[in-house]
Amino acid sequence: MKVVVTAGPTHEPIDPVRFIGNRSSGKQGYAIAKALQEAGYNVSLISGPTCLKDINAVKMTRIETAKQMLIEVQNALPADIIICCAAVADWAPEYSPQKIKKGSGDPQITFTENPDILKTISNHKQRPKLVIGFAAETQNLIENATAKLHKKSCDWILANDVSENVFGTDENHVYLITKSKQEDWRAMSKAEIAQKLVAEIKDYFK
Ligand code: C5P
Repeated sequence: MKVVVTAGPTHEPIDPVRFIGNRSSGKQGYAIAKALQEAGYNVSLISGPTCLKDINAVKMTRIETAKQMLIEVQNALPADIIICCAAVADWAPEYSPQKIKKGSGDPQITFTENPDILKTISNHKQRPKLVIGFAAETQNLIENATAKLHKKSCDWILANDVSENVFGTDENHVYLITKSKQEDWRAMSKAEIAQKLVAEIKDYFK
């Protein structure tokens, strides 16, 4: 079976030397891609800028922006499963082709909303059979993640509380939320979460 995984942050350029990014390390998405590959899936990993190495036998595509990520994800279809782990920037700043110089007052940067990759693929004519998203929340975790499941028309959400120490670490604490169940997976390593997700996916297609 073919799986597309998105991982890492996106970088949205302001000018040739500056960008807006976020704290995603890509570790959870890479762990999932690796576990799937080891379980025999055909994996395409579309990654934002990370410090992580390419994974053996995984088709790697590195991008910078949300718009590039959407193009590459669409190019990777058809697929049986998509897992959107990437922390995609919600907005892109207006790009200045020249470096913005100091000295003429505080710059005013305007933003436009980026495409929502998970929502776009959930509603795509080539929608994979299983569409999985993540929800990073700092409050009302289950409630907000359940709302996201419906809003983005995906099948499962892995929700995590990012007020805990998650970014860049090897540990995570997620809840699996589907239309029919909610499970607390307790705190464990990102590699263990990846293994548990692979087991859940195998069971789903059994
Ligand atoms: O709306 P929010 O960013 O909290 O949703 C998180 C989920 O949506 C994650 O699975 C993330 O990969 C995905 N997402 C996306 N494109 C965006 C924003 C979020 O694919 N522009």
